[in-house]
Amino acid sequence: MVSLHSSLGTERKLVTELPGPKSRALHERRRTVVSAGLSTGFPVYIERAEGAILEDVDGNHLLDMGSGIAVISVGHAVPEVVDAVSAQVAAFTHTCFMVTPYESYVQVCEELAALTPGDFPKTSALFNSGAEAVENAVKVARLATGRSAVIVFDHAYHGRTNLTMALTAKNMPYKDHFGPFAPEVYRVPMSYPFLDGLSGAEAAARAITEIETQVGAHNVAALLIEPIQGEGGFVVPADGFLPALSEWTTRNGVVFIADEIQSGFCRTGDWFAVNHEGVIPDLVTTAKGLAGGMPLSAVTGRAELMNAVHEGGLGGTYGGNPVAAAAALATIRTMRDRDLPARARVLGETMLTSLRSLAQDVAIIGDVRGRGAMIAFELVQPGTKIPNAAAAKSIVNYCNERGVIALSCGTFGNVIRLLPPLVISDEQLADAMSVFASAVRAAG
Ligand SMILES: *Cc1c(COP(=O)(O)O)cnc(C)c1O
Repeated sequence: MVSLHSSLGTERKLVTELPGPKSRALHERRRTVVSAGLSTGFPVYIERAEGAILEDVDGNHLLDMGSGIAVISVGHAVPEVVDAVSAQVAAFTHTCFMVTPYESYVQVCEELAALTPGDFPKTSALFNSGAEAVENAVKVARLATGRSAVIVFDHAYHGRTNLTMALTAKNMPYKDHFGPFAPEVYRVPMSYPFLDGLSGAEAAARAITEIETQVGAHNVAALLIEPIQGEGGFVVPADGFLPALSEWTTRNGVVFIADEIQSGFCRTGDWFAVNHEGVIPDLVTTAKGLAGGMPLSAVTGRAELMNAVHEGGLGGTYGGNPVAAAAALATIRTMRDRDLPARARVLGETMLTSLRSLAQDVAIIGDVRGRGAMIAFELVQPGTKIPNAAAAKSIVNYCNERGVIALSCGTFGNVIRLLPPLVISDEQLADAMSVFASAVRAAG
């Protein structure tokens, strides 16, 4: 039995090669019973975690620079969350909010109404996964507007369910042979400064012209966008792009949905990435950082939209589960108490400074970008903007083998993303950055 508040120490420590013998044995066992359709970035099997440290079954201590894909922003096993979850498990684990409700669901919705941008009445509905939140946001927008078209962007990632596969841009591995996909989804160009060189206003005009000529504004229920794209490559749109789109949606009665599932909850140095330019979405989807690793997602937005839905039109057996809700409340409290938005900004400065100086003398880094603790670098063939996925793969492998969990992303698989838990220490981050630097030099 693992103690409630374990102590793993604070340093990366390798006692076997990675993956170690126990992880390799588990991976063999897995092959016979786990679908081959599930990929694994690095087959090191985890037993415990604390802060930014993962302990594997062989006793190695790894430094987590991925946060389980931007989920453990608050840190692994932080005492506040562990205590809240443990107490809730002992009290009750499920009633179904649609059968007999409980206070923590209401409290999470109060927090979401207070934290999301916009000074107007807001209501929320809670779900389990990010994809489920996105699907429900689209349902709300269609019902409230009586229109059907949904606008999405190049490089977008919104999930793997049937509707969200249609909303997601990248074919492999998310969509290939899984169609037919949902209709009335229209994809327009994203602002991608490194590749298109356009200003935010120019990129918005390009997208809006496509919408108006190919779809017609009056047919559009929702414009759905990640304020900083996640899986698609940590693409940060040029300043002015999001405000111009937001203004266009307001003028045309289109619901502006910000998918903040990856960028939200302190990750970018603010509670939400849209805050950077003061954009106020009509609906916001959240999930990853929200509940300290417990499955919880939400759609939050203008009460007149969210409440337009007939009673019973939204829901699900597990949505807003009491254990996940308790975790979310403790996570939000911890983020506030420890001022994790400010910490994310500090981490971002450190990562950007380190990567920018590296980019000066390594020709394979084409671009360094991101905001707060959502930072990435894009790998290219030297002297060009041609994607270099091989370099990304070799950098990820190099880091992983040395006990630094690294993630790639991007439509072309050529972007490395840095997503540390926001409670990572300065020393841990410095250690991780030096491993990334060696990895990049080795790949270059
Ligand atoms: C991860 C992600 C999703 C999907 O969330 P799941 O919980 O995996 O369904 C949707 N949108 C964005 C921006 C994401 O990063």
